[in-house]
Amino acid sequence: MLPTKSYAAQNPNADLAPYQFERRNVGNHDVQIEILYCGVCHSDIHQVRNEWGGAKYPMVPGHEIVGRIVKVGEHVTKFKVGDLAGVGCIVDSCRTCNSCCEAQEQYCENGMVGTYNSFEKDGVTITQGGYSDKIVVDENYVLKVSESLPLERVAPLLCAGITTYSPLKQWNIGKGHRVAVLGLGGLGHMAVKLAASMGAEVTVLSTSPNKQKDAEALGAHKFIVTQNAAELKSVKSYFDFIIDTVSASHDINLYVSLLRLNGTLIMLGIPPEAPELRVYGLVSKRRRIAGSLIGGIAETQEMLDYCAKHNIVCDVEVIPISYINEAYERMIKGDVHYRFVIDMKTL
Ligand code: NAP
Ligand code: ZN
Ligand code: ZN
Repeated sequence: MLPTKSYAAQNPNADLAPYQFERRNVGNHDVQIEILYCGVCHSDIHQVRNEWGGAKYPMVPGHEIVGRIVKVGEHVTKFKVGDLAGVGCIVDSCRTCNSCCEAQEQYCENGMVGTYNSFEKDGVTITQGGYSDKIVVDENYVLKVSESLPLERVAPLLCAGITTYSPLKQWNIGKGHRVAVLGLGGLGHMAVKLAASMGAEVTVLSTSPNKQKDAEALGAHKFIVTQNAAELKSVKSYFDFIIDTVSASHDINLYVSLLRLNGTLIMLGIPPEAPELRVYGLVSKRRRIAGSLIGGIAETQEMLDYCAKHNIVCDVEVIPISYINEAYERMIKGDVHYRFVIDMKTL
């Protein structure tokens, strides 16, 4: 077994603190990665605090992992020692169901194995994530990472990047579409960069007036403060798509009313409480509400290659791991610009 240093939560009310555990030895199809950076996703907070239920402790969060391969199993073909590599939210799946066969492992009919807070296929071992010094993963669930981009700015692509890229592709969003991004945090800022790169007209809908300059620098064409009723009214029945990345309860009816005929609200944020829906808002303009979960492994590689080609990376604040509990408090207040990334040397 491989002794592993990490930060973990022991229960939903505890701060994250140093924790030592053991990972499995490198199997025939596994690679061992020395973790260099790990992004901090709002899903980490939801899960650490058991806001979605089903939390398993001790919990080492983290699913935006980049690092270097230090060991490969006997049958590994895609990677060699010294390669850069990434791991996102998925470390295994059944590999036989329709979703897996269609390279949509995130929708595995038998339940994907999450990078942390999940059970391995043995049904017993709890997976542990990237706030740690190493990880062992089957090569089929590991991504290739370009040597040409700053690694700390690549890490959040493994969740925030793919989660916003996948629906943009699914709905063929691009030139001629008016797209709103609701909430300018980790996911939101990548939705702005990616949608703008695909040619859409992008509007940021934010509760934080101080993010306007940044939104424009990220590629947004308009910026609207959602508490400002007059500004909101100016975009009533306006958008083809709204990409909702808000992590907390909010009035989705208000945003549905900003969709034009046949417009779609795509929910990416997963607030713990169920929203209230006024159905007339949908039927009056044949509007739709949809959801989307991360992306499959092949699509994640496609996204990483797209970002390398178009020089798209995340805007990050690199932190030592000792700052993690403060980072969580700042994210809950919306004070994130636009992803915290842990420098794992500090572990
Ligand atoms: P984040 O960086 O904390 O950003 C969330 C943003 O939402 C904030 O910066 C803020 O933007 C806005 N916001 C926060 N609280 C709000 C409130 N009470 N009312 C209105 N706006 C509020 O979070 P993230 O990492 O991007 O994650 C966002 C959500 O997506 C989380 O629920 C996460 O679990 C979920 N998620 C889903 C998937 C998926 O596959 N679907 C993948 C990853 C994450 P402004 O300051 O601009 O208002
Ligand atoms: Zn995430
Ligand atoms: Zn499957």
